[in-house]
Amino acid sequence: MKQQSNFLRCNIVSSALVLGLMMLSVTACTAIKPGRLIPISSGHSYLIMIDETAPSNAQVRLSLASAPVRLSIARNGDGAAISRVTCADGRAAAFDGLSWVAPPDCREFTWNVALEGIDHTGIDASLPVASYSLNHRYWLLPERGAFLRAANSGGMVKTTLRLKGGRTIVTNLMFPSADQPPYYAVIGSEPQQEYSSSELRLRVFGKPPQYPWMNALHNDVLARWAIWRRDLSSGKAPSVIDWVWVEVPPDAAPGYSASAGSEAIISQIKLRPGDPDAEAKARVVIGTSAAHEGFHTITGAAGQAWPAWVNESLANHYAITAAQAFLEPEDQKWLDVFYIAREVRTPLLNAQSRYTAGDGDQAQVFYTYGARFWRKIESILTIDSNGSGRLAALIAASNNFSDIDLNSANELASFLDLHSDGKAGPIVRCFLIDENCAVGTERSTH
Ligand SMILES: [Zn+2]
Repeated sequence: MKQQSNFLRCNIVSSALVLGLMMLSVTACTAIKPGRLIPISSGHSYLIMIDETAPSNAQVRLSLASAPVRLSIARNGDGAAISRVTCADGRAAAFDGLSWVAPPDCREFTWNVALEGIDHTGIDASLPVASYSLNHRYWLLPERGAFLRAANSGGMVKTTLRLKGGRTIVTNLMFPSADQPPYYAVIGSEPQQEYSSSELRLRVFGKPPQYPWMNALHNDVLARWAIWRRDLSSGKAPSVIDWVWVEVPPDAAPGYSASAGSEAIISQIKLRPGDPDAEAKARVVIGTSAAHEGFHTITGAAGQAWPAWVNESLANHYAITAAQAFLEPEDQKWLDVFYIAREVRTPLLNAQSRYTAGDGDQAQVFYTYGARFWRKIESILTIDSNGSGRLAALIAASNNFSDIDLNSANELASFLDLHSDGKAGPIVRCFLIDENCAVGTERSTH
C-alpha cells in the first residue's frame, strides 16, 4: 500500500517526519540546538521588533562585526516575506535575484518581514512561515521566513515584543550556525499551560487538543525529557521547551503534523471522522512525536553533530522506548503499527548518502531500521547502565560519540566492540553496509 510505503517521510528542510496513515498523517520534525543558556561571543546579532498593535510586521536589525559583501536568504527560505533591505544609514541593498548586495562598508542592516495572520486560515505545522495568532498571542519566527544571513556562523537573536498594554517581552536566543538545524522560535505572552520539573519547563502555546489525557501526556513527556536531560547530555542543556498548537487549514487532510527547530515544537491535529480508534491513535502519535522532538532539543543543546542517520534513528529509538513506558497496554498495538512494524530496510549508510543528496524519504529508514539497530546495540552493550540505559551511558561517556566518524562502519564497529565484548561489529556491518547479514540475526523486525 502506498500509505504504508510512505508512512514516514522526512522533509529535509526541517527534518520532518511524516506518518501517512489511514487515519493520521504525522509530521514530526527534527528540532535541535536550543540556544537558551548557551553563551555566544559573536559580533553577529539580530534584533527583532514586533508591536502587537501592528502584528503583521516585524522589523529586523542585523549587526555584524565586519562588513559583508552580500546578504543571503536564510536556509530554505524564498525571501518572499522580506522587503526594504537597507543599510542602517539608509543606503539600499540591491537585490540581484538571489541575494542582496551590501552597500560598501555597511555593518548594520535593517529589513521588514511580513507576518501572516493564521487565526482564520490555519497553517501547515510541518513547514510554517513567519506568522502570528492574535487569538492566542504568539508569533512564529522560522529562520527560512524571516532571516537573512551574512555568513554561516551562529550568533544571537534578541526579540522585543511590545504588547498592547505597553508591556514589553524581551527574548534572547541563540541563532544557529549553518551546520545546525534552523532557528525556530515561538514568541508569546500567554502560554496556555506551563509544566515544570526541577530542571526543565514546558510551555504550551496556542490551542492544544482538549483530550482529558493531554495534561498527563504533557507531564509524561516533561518527565521523560528531564530524565534524558540528566542521562544523555554531557554538555549544555535546555531549561525551557516551547510547544505551540496551531490551527489546521480548512482543506487539510486528517492527520497529525509537527515540526521543530532550535527553540520550539509546532504541531496540529485533525481527526478523521468516524474512526473509533482516532483518539487512541492520536494519543500514541502525539506522545511519541513529542518525545522524539524533545530528544532532538536536548541532545542538540549538548552540542551533538551527528549525521542524520544517527540523529533520527536515536530520536526514534528513545521515543519508542519512552512511549512503551507511558502508554497504556491497549495503546501499544498502535505504537507497533506506526513506529515499529512497518520497517523500511536499506543499509543505513546507503540511506544517509541518498538523504544527503536530497532524498528526504530516506529518513523513513532511519526512523525504523535505524531505531531497530540501536535496540540491538542496547541489548549487547556491557557498560554500566544509567537511568536511561546502557546506550545512554555510552553516549554521555563518549561526549555524544564526538571522536567517532559515524559514517564509517568500521570505526563505529571498533568503538562499539570495545563496549560489547566484540559483539557489536557484525551488527554494525549488517545494518550500516549490509555486510554478512546472513550470519547475524538482524532480519527479524523485533
Ligand atoms: Zn527527528
